[in-house]
Parts: sequence; structure tokens; C-alpha cells
Amino acid sequence: MNDVSDAPPSPCSPAHRAILPGATLGILGGGQLGAMFASAARRMGYRVEAVVEDADCPAARHCDAIHIGLLDDPVGLVALGSRFAAVTYEFENVPVAAARALAAVVPVRPGPEVLYTTQDRGREKAFLVAHGLPCAPHATVRSRDDLTAALSKVGFPAVLKTSASGYDGKGQQRVDGPADVDAAWRVLGPAELVCEGWVRFACEMSVVAARGIDGATCTWEPSLNVHRHHILDLSTAPCGLPEATVAAARRMAVRILEGLDVVGVACVEFFVTVDGGLLVNEIAPRPHNSGHLTIEGAFTSQFEQQVRAVCGLPLGSTSPRAPAAMANLLGDCWQRGEPDWAAALAVPGVSLHLYGKSSPRPGRKMGHLTALAGTVAEAEAAALSARQALARGGLG
Ligand code: AMP
Repeated sequence: MNDVSDAPPSPCSPAHRAILPGATLGILGGGQLGAMFASAARRMGYRVEAVVEDADCPAARHCDAIHIGLLDDPVGLVALGSRFAAVTYEFENVPVAAARALAAVVPVRPGPEVLYTTQDRGREKAFLVAHGLPCAPHATVRSRDDLTAALSKVGFPAVLKTSASGYDGKGQQRVDGPADVDAAWRVLGPAELVCEGWVRFACEMSVVAARGIDGATCTWEPSLNVHRHHILDLSTAPCGLPEATVAAARRMAVRILEGLDVVGVACVEFFVTVDGGLLVNEIAPRPHNSGHLTIEGAFTSQFEQQVRAVCGLPLGSTSPRAPAAMANLLGDCWQRGEPDWAAALAVPGVSLHLYGKSSPRPGRKMGHLTALAGTVAEAEAAALSARQALARGGLG
């Protein structure tokens, strides 16, 4: 018989005993993803405490406690760590130092190295290339000379992106031709940047996937995503793409979660090229806006699955309940006053989610509408007509 006493614990050993209801979970970040994680976890009997930047945040009213201003204080976080049975995060711009410090005292899932890779576009692309996963032509840029070299590699049009801290198109400059290069560099340089070739995609889709502590994986029905001004506007599932494309996207998403050793939920966004090929655009190591339709549309939502994975519990079924569509509600919906919620909710099959943010600035994600219906076209029509109805009721 082999002596295994010095071996690292196998994923199923008692060292990975499940964290059961009643335990306290920590979440880093206080946005809507943290709020939805907290409400799923509390429904399942867990206590949830969030580490947030500001008391006025969506997660605050869904958590048992919040801790303010510790994200940049690894020592303070370590002191807090003993309160938690496990810690997860709801955005990838959590300082890696904070996650690493916490991981010394409490399981952080997904682990800090997942954050390290995915919070930097350059490192994320290097991971994809190393794993043979397709992505847009690109080059890292640290100087104006690098930018010239990168553009001669990827060609025009291109898009220049900050490596860190970019989301929803923030920190991005499109470079259509040589005349735009200096202006783009003035806006974003000098900084660590990635220059990407512009992809003439047929559509965008995403796969939300989960991986348990025992290595079990699952994917939800991939969704077709439409962005406006770089911000997700509409997601529909099933996506209606050919079965081979859907299967390939699911396989790539699983390979990514395995390659990163994710324990938790992650989303992989893809460009679908005009010839039906797939290019990975981005990886988010957490639930994703395009997965919000799983709350009503699947047997297990992405947030309940995050709880299950982080706690070392069996993953739930990702089977769809019905075709679904999700329409985002940005602050723009408030432009002419309070939206007509009753009119939107009069549309059959529609559910409303508001994140409790106080100032509805244009472009700010304030909530979303999800519609379930017999077909995806009907679900999409219901979500869009509910959103249109918001602007009616006496508001013009
Ligand atoms: P990102 O923050 O990188 O996901 O970019 C937000 C959105 O901008 C994407 O969902 C696309 O609609 C668009 N975009 C970003 N990069 C590219 C690219 N290389 N080619 C074409 N569109 C892009």
C-alpha cells in the first residue's frame, strides 16, 4: 500500500469537506454580482459578509455585514479572514495581494492565481495562446515604438486597450488608420496596453461555466449577446448558432476553467467570425451579466452555482427551464423620470431586477429585465417590449 500521508490532499479528501449552511462566506466587492451572490447564499442558509469600497453599494442590503475600505489592506483582510469559511469575489479588479494574503488563512475560490491571470489582458491572452485557444491577433504595448510595431502586426482597424482595470469598453481606443495612432496613444499611454486587431464578427456569444472542487464541470446554455457602446444590452439563450459552434464554445470554456484551475463560476466571451469560427474575447472569473438570465431560466442560477462551488457542494443542474432573454436597464432609462415599472411588469413572462443604486447615470447598470417564453424570439420580444414600456406611462 502506498504511503500517501505527505501527498497533497486530493480534491475529494476530508481537507476539502463541504462548507455547510450556517457558515459565513466572504465576498470581495459590493456590486450587483455580489448582491445576487449574497441573496442566493442567504436563501440557502449561509451568512454573507462583503468587503466593499463604499457603504452605499448594491451588496450592502443583501449581506449580514459589510466591511469598508479593506480591499487595499492585506493585513486588515487577514485579520478579517478568520470570520469566513470561504471567500469569493464578484469583480476581477480585486488586488491580487489582498486575495493572496487572504488565501493564507481561508480558502479563496477561485484562487488568487486565477485573478492574477484574468485581471490583465496581456496575461490572459498569453494563457490562451499557451493553451492553444484562439483569440484576436494582438501584441502587448509599453511604448510608442511598441505601438507602431503592434499595428504593423495586427493591421488596421485595431483597438488599443489598457491591460488592467478595463471593463465595458472603458480604457479602449479604436484606431482606424495611421491618423488615429497618436491620439489613441495620448489617451491611453504610457501604460501597459494590448493592441488587438479589430474582429469583423458575425455575432458575440458567451458561455458561463462552473467547476466544482472535485473537478466536475458544467456549462449553461450559451447566450447570444448584443452590445451597445461596448456595454451588454441584450442576451438570449439558446443562442441559435449551429450545434457544432455551440459545442465547441462549451468545450473551450471548460478547457479554460480547467487550465486556470477555477473552483467557482466563470464566463468566457467569444466573437463568432463570419466563417463560423470562434475567438475568445475575454474571461471573467465570476458570474457574468450574460448569465443573469439563468436566475429564472435555468434549474440552478449562476449565483447558486457559485455558492455550491465555493462551498465544495455538488454542482446543480444547468438545464434550461425555458428560452430566455435578458435586457439590461442602464441609467439612460431614467432620463425622463422614474420608469413605468408597472407597464413593464404587465408584459407576460417578465421579471424585474433592480440593483438599488441611487444615482442613475447614463451607461450605469441599474438593473435588468428577464423574460421567459415558449421560443427565444418570443422571449426577446417580451424583454424588449417591457423595456420600451418603461418609457411610456406619461413620460412620453
Ligand atoms: P471588451 O471590454 O474587451 O470585452 O470589449 C467590449 C466590447 O467591445 C466587445 O464585446 C465587442 O463588442 C467590442 N470589441 C472589443 N474588442 C474588439 C475587437 N478586437 N474587435 C471587435 N470588437 C471588439
